[in-house]
Amino acid sequence: MSKAIGIDLGTTYSAVSVLSETGQPQILLNQDGENLTPSVVFFQDFDGKDEPLVGIQAKNLAASSPEAVVQYVKRQMGNPNWKFDSPSDTVYTAEEISAIILKRLKEGAENALGDKVEDVVITVPAYFDDARRTATKHAGEIAGLNVLRVLNEPTAAALAYGISAEKNETVLVYDLGGGTFDVTLMKIKDGEFDVIATDGDRNLGGFDFDNALSMIIAEKMEEQGAEDIYTDEHFTALLREKSENTKRGLTTVEKTNVFLDYKGKSYKIPITRVEFEEATKSLMNRTEELLDDVVEESGMSWDEIDQVLLIGGSTRMPMVQRKLEEKIGKKIVYSINPDEAVAQGAAIQAALEIANKSESADVSETVRGLAEKLVVSDVTSQALGTLALSNGVKRNTIIIPKNSKVPNKYSEYFSTVVDNQQNVLVEVTQGDDEDPQFVTVIGESTIKLPGDWPAGTVLKVTYHYDVDQTVFVEVHDSDNHLLGTFEVERQANLDKSAVEVASRRIKDLTID
Ligand code: ADP
Ligand code: MG
Repeated sequence: MSKAIGIDLGTTYSAVSVLSETGQPQILLNQDGENLTPSVVFFQDFDGKDEPLVGIQAKNLAASSPEAVVQYVKRQMGNPNWKFDSPSDTVYTAEEISAIILKRLKEGAENALGDKVEDVVITVPAYFDDARRTATKHAGEIAGLNVLRVLNEPTAAALAYGISAEKNETVLVYDLGGGTFDVTLMKIKDGEFDVIATDGDRNLGGFDFDNALSMIIAEKMEEQGAEDIYTDEHFTALLREKSENTKRGLTTVEKTNVFLDYKGKSYKIPITRVEFEEATKSLMNRTEELLDDVVEESGMSWDEIDQVLLIGGSTRMPMVQRKLEEKIGKKIVYSINPDEAVAQGAAIQAALEIANKSESADVSETVRGLAEKLVVSDVTSQALGTLALSNGVKRNTIIIPKNSKVPNKYSEYFSTVVDNQQNVLVEVTQGDDEDPQFVTVIGESTIKLPGDWPAGTVLKVTYHYDVDQTVFVEVHDSDNHLLGTFEVERQANLDKSAVEVASRRIKDLTID
């Protein structure tokens, strides 16, 4: 039987793990013998045919041929307008680029396990909305995988943390990765993992710290006479690479020198950690605001938080650890690996999914025992509502509040506006704001009414939200007779036939 694995499909780095029969999650080394695979795709082109490279080789080539490289594609998941045009003039969607990465990870896992891999759990940031989750699931399908579930990254990290011991704790999962920031408050109690509140920023991560450092370096080069640095695409890519390495260096040393050659001249740029921290203060402040929001939304106080789990490579920066210890008022215990915990949690969840759905003797006693004990529940990261007239003005009314446990079902009552109203348009919105301008309509349907009601007749609108993030809508009259139903088909996502076409395309690609 093939093995179920967990995949942390990161913005900058990905990792793969499997749960051993003894209930320990193990990281699988990739084709390069590494525990982490850069989520970078480099398009080699042979005789007009693409042969993409994934991982460290692709990352190393990023600076030399920026036009042939895709990085940070996770930021584009669920964005139907984003496309990559490869050097052979083939156009790829974000789902397809992610599928290329996933296919490479799948093949690496198969090598490491000596077995076929089909069933996977893929992790996503907790604040990913439904379109981004669905896009991630599609990427897995396009890569030829059976996606058992998409799991929230902080939940995965908490699973990896909580599995080893009987824990009853409130933990704050702080994930500062390469391209995203995510903060989640969770309760672990008797094997139950409950999300209390979650928030994040899809456009905040180590990448932004690299950019801030690039600017200091560029400024200092200009002081030494360099000109037009940012008009040189190759040099900008090289500068970014140097900045990332320098940033990592500043995690352990207080000062360093950066050596760069530009337009025939050599530059030696001294940089201190203090300068770096000063230049990235506004980024740290943004993480702090979101952190405070989450704790506030949860209605808890800082001293009720037992532990902070740091995940994501950027939490290695000393200022991050300092800030959190200051907030929580105690020393952080480093009990999980910031690079591996998310993949490990995904591997645990993958094994549990298999154990829960099959009686197969292949599932070890230990894993079956875990499956009986552990319950993982998630919450919605975005409010869902509908647009309705209120005193003649169109307003967004929330039906499922943010941070509601999934699966869930919520109803709201509305009334007809005119006598003999023939139908009602239900527009499903995503977002917290009352103003329709600041929310997104993710689906809509017109429901027929009996047509002989007086104005002001009451209607009940019910939203069902399931673990797969599908939203199903029902409209009832006041006697609970069903008037109509529909499922939200998100426009941002590929349809079934597009997924099939993409699967065939990616299947035919040789990926190195
Ligand atoms: P993601 O999950 O978003 O792909 P990761 O958790 O793998 O990201 O973190 C990658 C980020 O962590 C990169 O921006 C990288 O530069 C940063 N990083 C890794 N190691 C260090 C370090 N020692 N000091 C500072 N930043 C680091
Ligand atoms: Mg990550």
